[in-house]
Amino acid sequence: AATPVSVIGLGRMGQALADAFLKAGHPTTVWNRTPSKADQLVAKGAALAGSVGEAVRPDSLTVLCLTDYAAVHELLAGDGVALSGTTWVNLTSGDSAQARDTARWAEEHGARYLDGAIMAVPPGIGTAEAVILHSGPQAEFDTHAPTLGALGTVTYLGADHGLAALYDVAGLAMMWSVLNAWLQGTALLRTVGVDAATYAPFARQIAAGVADWLPGYAEQIDRGAFPAEVSTLETDARAMTHLIEESDAAGVNAELPRLFKAMADRAIAAGHAEKQYPVLIEEFGTPRQA
Ligand code: NDP
Repeated sequence: AATPVSVIGLGRMGQALADAFLKAGHPTTVWNRTPSKADQLVAKGAALAGSVGEAVRPDSLTVLCLTDYAAVHELLAGDGVALSGTTWVNLTSGDSAQARDTARWAEEHGARYLDGAIMAVPPGIGTAEAVILHSGPQAEFDTHAPTLGALGTVTYLGADHGLAALYDVAGLAMMWSVLNAWLQGTALLRTVGVDAATYAPFARQIAAGVADWLPGYAEQIDRGAFPAEVSTLETDARAMTHLIEESDAAGVNAELPRLFKAMADRAIAAGHAEKQYPVLIEEFGTPRQA
């Protein structure tokens, strides 16, 4: 029989999670601070718990999806919640320190804990496109992976509970960098009447092409050797100057390319002019204030 689950937090995401569990045939108990958000789920067969304590039970996998970790702690530390012997999967967004603290806190209360990060929006939940990252004890993940699989493509990252949160922000860095680079080019092209839709397919092709370089560049970083197989950092830095000059001439914001250029210049000053681009990992590994 399908594992019973309890979903605590029925915001935009929590409702999608509970709905996916119901569709996959899991007996699903739900709880939300504002009970009316459970109405549609109850109509589809979910059981509405009268309290958090009623939802968090040893015979059910508890999935948490609240605004932040403070809300998670507030609810689980509340009166009438018996935590010993329970298992929680926390899909609330937070940072790695919060994930590790929550894991310690769970252990102190005799509960089992997996942390998680959802790399998807609510309409994708329940499909393979929804990537959900997990970290914590492998045995716990292996036990619950079939259940969690109802939500999307579940991936196990490792025993350190902080890993899901770290991968989450690493992914955000990628997302904003690609979007900002695209917006920079779009702003530049709009000054000569090229609209965003015209440039978008070119930008997409470039982003996909660059993504293909990552495995080879990662190998250079892991080896700590950066031979200029396709171009030198100095060649890249000259092209950055063109981007800055074009942006300035067109009256477009050039802060972002100036930041790339400053990093490349520092690496060149450190003696890396003849090396390949990923040598900049050393710049990224050095703390600096903006
Ligand atoms: P919503 O704002 O829609 O829902 C927030 C939920 O948290 C509600 O159920 C709310 O209850 C509950 N809550 C907040 N504070 C408390 C508290 N002190 N006590 C009890 N319940 C509380 O947010 P989402 O569902 O969109 O997001 C939930 C989590 O999922 C966040 O951490 C978010 O970062 C993450 N996430 C969301 C994505 C998205 O696209 N929506 C994508 C990836 C991750 P009430 O209904 O009573 O207000």
